[in-house]
Amino acid sequence: MSEKDCIFCRIIRGEQPADFTHRGERIVAFKDIRPSAPVHILIVPRKHIRSINDLAGEDESLIAEMILLAPDLAREAGIASSGYKLLFNVEKGGGQFVFHLHLHLFGGWQRK
Ligand code: AMP
Ligand code: ZN
Repeated sequence: MSEKDCIFCRIIRGEQPADFTHRGERIVAFKDIRPSAPVHILIVPRKHIRSINDLAGEDESLIAEMILLAPDLAREAGIASSGYKLLFNVEKGGGQFVFHLHLHLFGGWQRK
């Protein structure tokens, strides 16, 4: 899929609405449209990369930045201390439906 037709590229370009929680130079984050947890945020690089399989050596700092952003966003959502999950789905067999790299941040469950 080209960047022209990619749903996340369209969101990043402002052609499609999204509920942003972060707009950074290299990374954005927005709420998942079909949340599977009380808090479900997608951490997305502005650069169109298909999946974890397509990372290049030069993307090392980008991936680190995506992961390091997660605790900040979790803190802002009030779920850092209660806890959360981070997930990359990779390709169809791994449950990936949108082929623009993203890190899922899930949390907000009431667990004792
Ligand atoms: P994945 O299965 O890892 O590819 O996850 C893609 C995620 O993107 C799913 O959880 C979808 O609900 C979410 N999603 C798809 N379209 C949009 C959109 N326009 N805005 C926000 N989230 C979306
Ligand atoms: Zn894209």
